[in-house]
Amino acid sequence: MPTINLGKRKPHDESGTNRKINKSRYNTPDWIALKKAKLLLNPVCEKCNDAQANGITHNKKYYPTNGPIDEAFYNIDSVISTCHQCQIDEHIRLRKEAGRIK
Ligand SMILES: [Zn+2]
Repeated sequence: MPTINLGKRKPHDESGTNRKINKSRYNTPDWIALKKAKLLLNPVCEKCNDAQANGITHNKKYYPTNGPIDEAFYNIDSVISTCHQCQIDEHIRLRKEAGRIK
């Protein structure tokens, strides 16, 4: 019987584990409610003030770690409304600040 070689699966690395943790944190009723409330309060992107916000991201005062979620994680004062492009830019900036990327 012919077989298809799919190659070896990559073992889970640290970043894969973190991605799973992060995904589960942002796919919760708390996060979805926070996003809805924040977008109602600030419908325009707070970074560029030029586009409709369609997401939220943690602001400079709060940087989420991979440890246990603290009280500020889902606090409305810990997030800003962002358009898609500013959300990407903000995440890159935060990762650079945290030394995760250069
Ligand atoms: Zn923007």
